[in-house]
Amino acid sequence: MKIYDIAVIGGGPAGCMAAIRGAQLGKKVILLERNDKICRKLLLTANGRCNITNTAQLEVFLEMFGRRGSFYRDAFSEFSNQDLMEFFKIRGLDFKVEEAGRVFPSTEKAESVVNILKRALDEYGVKIIYNYRLKHLHQQSKIFKLYSTEEELFTTYNIIIATGGASYPRTGSTGDGFTVAGSLGHHITELKPGGVPLRVREKWVHKLKGVALENVGLKIVYDGKILNLPDGNLLLTHFGVSGPVILDMSHTIVELMDKQGDLEIYVDLKPELKQDALEVQMVEDFQKYSKKSLKNYLKFHLPQRLVDPVLEISHLDPEKKLNQITKKERLMLQEILKALPLTITGHLPLDRAMVTCGGVSKKEIDPKTMESKLVKGLYFVGEIIAGCGRRGGFNLQQAFSTGYVAGSNASR
Ligand SMILES: Cc1cc2nc3c(=O)[nH]c(=O)nc-3n(C[C@H](O)[C@H](O)[C@H](O)COP(=O)(O)OP(=O)(O)OC[C@H]3O[C@@H](n4cnc5c(N)ncnc54)[C@H](O)[C@@H]3O)c2cc1C
Repeated sequence: MKIYDIAVIGGGPAGCMAAIRGAQLGKKVILLERNDKICRKLLLTANGRCNITNTAQLEVFLEMFGRRGSFYRDAFSEFSNQDLMEFFKIRGLDFKVEEAGRVFPSTEKAESVVNILKRALDEYGVKIIYNYRLKHLHQQSKIFKLYSTEEELFTTYNIIIATGGASYPRTGSTGDGFTVAGSLGHHITELKPGGVPLRVREKWVHKLKGVALENVGLKIVYDGKILNLPDGNLLLTHFGVSGPVILDMSHTIVELMDKQGDLEIYVDLKPELKQDALEVQMVEDFQKYSKKSLKNYLKFHLPQRLVDPVLEISHLDPEKKLNQITKKERLMLQEILKALPLTITGHLPLDRAMVTCGGVSKKEIDPKTMESKLVKGLYFVGEIIAGCGRRGGFNLQQAFSTGYVAGSNASR
């Protein structure tokens, strides 16, 4: 039976890059993918536009992966954001940069990225077997024997596991790699969702599904401490809140909830004005528009559908004229505009998250090579590795960089 130099399990971005790199270095590479095509998840990224990387500097990249972000220093240095763009540029795909350094293919189509990966796999002669779902493997005299759910057998000297996380399972990423890694003695850290919408208790939020609160401030108060989140857009949904800031920060919030339970979050509807400045403005307004009803006044300041809930929370009569509002009532309204309270009670499940935070422990992977410290010839790349990055193109870069590094090292 033919023994491959490298078998790559999973044809997502990490697996494709690992296979391309191994084959580029002259190795006999086989790519085993359970679907009938590669990169199904990549096709969904950024609503099909694919935020492939970010122009940020290395240190920012590492920060985006949290406490153990420095694990990726070697991988991001060996195959950087610039290297990734170059890889595609020389194959005919250009890029555009949007706010916060987010990089997209100039075609705005994830499909363009996938087409180039597929062409490169073919160009370097990677053998691709579709509809092959790895079930288990074992190592015998330095050779790995791989078995599919149908007991189809392949043999290889090196194996790169690139099966992704456990979110969006319909794309093929159902967490199989965690079982395989676990069976070989690896520790799998708790699987938690990253980039996930949050549930809130307040029913008025659910009724306002689809309303976007633009550029609001957010802070979480717990245990006498304050966690300030970046300003941004908040999207109200039929179960709670979503939108860029929530998706960006959800893994931090989910971790905090594990320790603290339900969390109080405060929405600053006027982040551009400090308390004092808002007070000055409201005093002026109340004099200038003294005959206006409170309800009509607030329409100037808030999205129309938010006016009733704000008035309800303030226990103020919507029809009251501004000149009938007492100072105490005005200050209370001001307080609510600066800190509208919500209660976070949970999050959507892992399968609805953009990424899986948790996976094969980084302590068991050599960051220079992506090789397991427990099993020689076994490599882990992409989302299967514990931890996750923030939104902004960082997760795809992690998949490509770790894939490249493992492909290089499995070829040595
Ligand atoms: C909706 C959505 C939008 C996103 N947008 C962005 C974005 O714009 N920018 C960004 O950086 N990140 C984004 N991400 C995250 C990004 O898609 C992932 O981090 C990335 O795809 C991980 O790559 P991977 O190769 O490790 O795993 P995956 O892309 O999950 O690929 C794993 C592959 O392994 C295969 N597989 C699984 N088990 C087996 C098995 N037993 N045998 C054989 N094959 C198997 C799967 O079928 C799949 O093809 C988004 C994620 C989602 C869900």
